[in-house]
Amino acid sequence: MNLLDGKKIAADIRAELREEVETLKAQGKRVPKLAVVIVGNNPASETYVNNKIKACAEVGIEAARIAYDESISEQTLLNEVTKLNNDPTIDGFIVQLPLPEHINESAILSAIDYRKDVDGLTPENVGRTVQGLPSLVSATPRGIRELLARYDIQTEGKHVVVIGRSNIVGKPIAMLLMQRPYLSLPGMSASSLGDATVTICHSKTRNLADICRTADIIIVAAGSPKLLTADMVRDGVVVIDVGINRVDDITSPRGYRLVGDVDFESVAPKAAFITPVPGGVGPMTIASLLQNTLQAYHS
Ligand code: NDP
Repeated sequence: MNLLDGKKIAADIRAELREEVETLKAQGKRVPKLAVVIVGNNPASETYVNNKIKACAEVGIEAARIAYDESISEQTLLNEVTKLNNDPTIDGFIVQLPLPEHINESAILSAIDYRKDVDGLTPENVGRTVQGLPSLVSATPRGIRELLARYDIQTEGKHVVVIGRSNIVGKPIAMLLMQRPYLSLPGMSASSLGDATVTICHSKTRNLADICRTADIIIVAAGSPKLLTADMVRDGVVVIDVGINRVDDITSPRGYRLVGDVDFESVAPKAAFITPVPGGVGPMTIASLLQNTLQAYHS
C-alpha cells in the first residue's frame, strides 16, 4: 500500500506557485489577488476561509476577506458580487458556501463572472469543462486529478467508480476523468489523464458493493464514515477518500476527530494507493484554489 500524500504534493505546488509569484514581482508586475466572501459565522466556514487566506499568504498571493452578517439580503450580496466582478485589482473570488437559507445559492453563483470564478462553480465554467473548453475547474476535482497525475496513476481504459453526485465533487471529477486527453484543461499536468470509463453512484444506487468490486479506482465523496469497506474493493485498487466527517472521540482534546468515507484500516492493506484523511484530498483542494487564482490572473 502506498499513501497518496496530499499534504506533501500540496506543499510542492505551493512552492511552485511561490516561485511564480516571486518571478512576477521581480518583473515589476502586480501580484495576483483573491477575495473571499464569507456570510455569517459558521465555524467550519471560518476555518476553511482562514486556511485559504493563510495559504495565499504563504505563496505571496494577496487575499481580501469580505465578511457579512448572517442577515445580509440576497440583493446586497449580489451587489458585492457585481462589485468584485468589476474590480480590476481582483483576479478571482469565492463566496464561501453554505449560505444562509434565505439566500438563493444558485442565483449568487450564477452572478459570478466565470473568468473570476476560482471555485469553478458557475454554470459557464461547468459547461465549459463538460465541453473541454478552457475553464476554471472546481478545486477539489482539480486537486484529485493533480494528485493522480503526480503519482503517475494512469486512468486510460480504467474503470473509475465515483460515489457521490454533487456539483462540487462527484459530477466534475467524473467529467474530468472521462474526457479525451486532448480536451485536457490548460494549467493541469499529465495530459494522459482522462479516457476512463466512469460509473457514478449515489444513495439510490443498487448493488454499490458489486459495482465497487469492479473498479480500478474508487473516488468516495459521500459524507458517510466507513461507507467503503474492505469487502467492497479488489486487491490493487486506488482509493481517493474525499469525505470529511467529524466523529466523537473522547481521547481528543476537541472531543472529535476527522475521518473520511473509507474504512481506512481495512481497505488500505488491499489498496495499491490510498489517500489518508486528513492529509489527502483536503490540502490539494486549497492548493488547487491557488492554482486557479494564478490561472485567472494570467487569462
Ligand atoms: P453532498 O452531500 O453534496 O453529496 C453527497 C453525495 O453522496 C450525494 O450524491 C449522495 O447521494 C451520495 N451518498 C451519500 N450517502 C451515500 C451512500 N450511503 N451510498 C451512496 N451514495 C451516497 O456532499 P459533497 O459532495 O459536498 O461532499 C462529500 C464529502 O466530501 C463530505 O464529507 C464533504 O465534507 C467532503 N468534502 C471534502 C472536500 C475536501 O477538500 N476534502 C471538499 C468538498 C467536500 P444522493 O445524491 O442520492 O443524495
